[in-house]
Amino acid sequence: MSINSAAASAGPLHLYVHTIGCQMNEYDTQRVQHILGVQGYALTTDINQADVIFLNTCSVRAKAEQKVHSYLGRLRRLKKRNPRLIIIVAGCVAQQLGADLLGRFEHLDLVLGTRAIPSVGALLHRVATRSERLVHLPESEEEGWDSLLRQGQFSAPGVVAPVTIMQGCDNFCSYCIVPHVRGRERSRPAASILTEIEALTRQGVKEVLLLGQNVNSYGRGLPEILTFSQLLRQIHDETTILRIRFTTSHPKDLTEELIGSFAELPRLCRWIHLPFQSGSDRILQRMNRVYTAARYLSLIEGLRSACPDMGLSSDVMVGFPGESEEDFRQTLQLMREIRFDNLFSFSYSDRPHARASQLPDKLPEEVKGARLRELQNLQMEIVLEKNRAEIGCIREVLVEGLSKQSEGSQLTGRTEQNRIVNFEGPAELVGRLVKVRISDAFQHSLRGGLMAD
Ligand code: SF4
Repeated sequence: MSINSAAASAGPLHLYVHTIGCQMNEYDTQRVQHILGVQGYALTTDINQADVIFLNTCSVRAKAEQKVHSYLGRLRRLKKRNPRLIIIVAGCVAQQLGADLLGRFEHLDLVLGTRAIPSVGALLHRVATRSERLVHLPESEEEGWDSLLRQGQFSAPGVVAPVTIMQGCDNFCSYCIVPHVRGRERSRPAASILTEIEALTRQGVKEVLLLGQNVNSYGRGLPEILTFSQLLRQIHDETTILRIRFTTSHPKDLTEELIGSFAELPRLCRWIHLPFQSGSDRILQRMNRVYTAARYLSLIEGLRSACPDMGLSSDVMVGFPGESEEDFRQTLQLMREIRFDNLFSFSYSDRPHARASQLPDKLPEEVKGARLRELQNLQMEIVLEKNRAEIGCIREVLVEGLSKQSEGSQLTGRTEQNRIVNFEGPAELVGRLVKVRISDAFQHSLRGGLMAD
């Protein structure tokens, strides 16, 4: 019996999804939801009701990988209770560990590499009908970009939708595993991106988040000559999408042309996520980041002089091998000078295949932990001060939906600068741009009152 006929005769089969890691993974999970949705699977939030559990994994941080192992361990009990349950692992951990995962977790059914998402339906069918356990790690993206388009067009999007514009990375930062598990950089043709954005706009999407490991090096290897800034201009001029954002950018590829785009394209949100990683040139060099702290500061100056109200977020790592107290102080100093609106901070951990894992002078866990706490405390002070400075300002907010803490009438949305704003208002405003006067500031969000039109 096929999966489809099983679904037809006994009601829908249930799919439970769990994603660990980055927005690229969130996007792939949405593609899986769509593909399996077409095959008759209904999404469930109750893991006990699931016929299929799809776990999308990240191995960028050691902690994320540990989470995958403990999550899989916990699923053993569910499989015992329901031997027909099918468990799938995809993403970076699947790509990296492959068959080892099947050997280690006897209750796991299917391991899918980072380029295998388009095959999920067919492979699940084989697992379900032939009771096979499979590993599939293709070397290149299956079905190419067109499958993204087909799958993207049919998803059920909200107000904001991600759109992949490139995959992989060529930068080989010495601590990072991404080029090893996601492969070399590949850019998606502009026509395919524009078609997807138009389709999403027709379905009611108001904001697109252009996704890639290193979006601002977009264009390499395409038959057409097109820079990332030119792509942004095409999206801006040739589609009717209300807002455009992108992530993630590498400082070495942040051109004058791209900085100018923020001032020239009104529907491009004035916000950038630009990882700096360290304020010490010595550590940046060991990380193979190919810029200096001074260069990073001058890029921020350029962005702020083009758009004084630019929203800035970043990634930083503490405890890289050989990081001295002085190197760490330089990182704190750079944070004080720039005053990021949001900062994702991590403590260094060895990743297999990454060159930094071979470096000497690893720091003890207590030192890394103490540095991370000090850095996070400083960032919390900065964010709270910056959020408090918003009190009294009137901000334009794209309403994304009901606030999670809502009793029914509290809406949530984002400013161009990516600040979350909660306020009272009717549900009809979802998907609209509204003006909100900010009245309260917290660590992760603002609260305000809706202004009359
Ligand atoms: S730019 Fe560096 S940190 Fe980012 S994905 Fe590429 S190798 Fe990893």
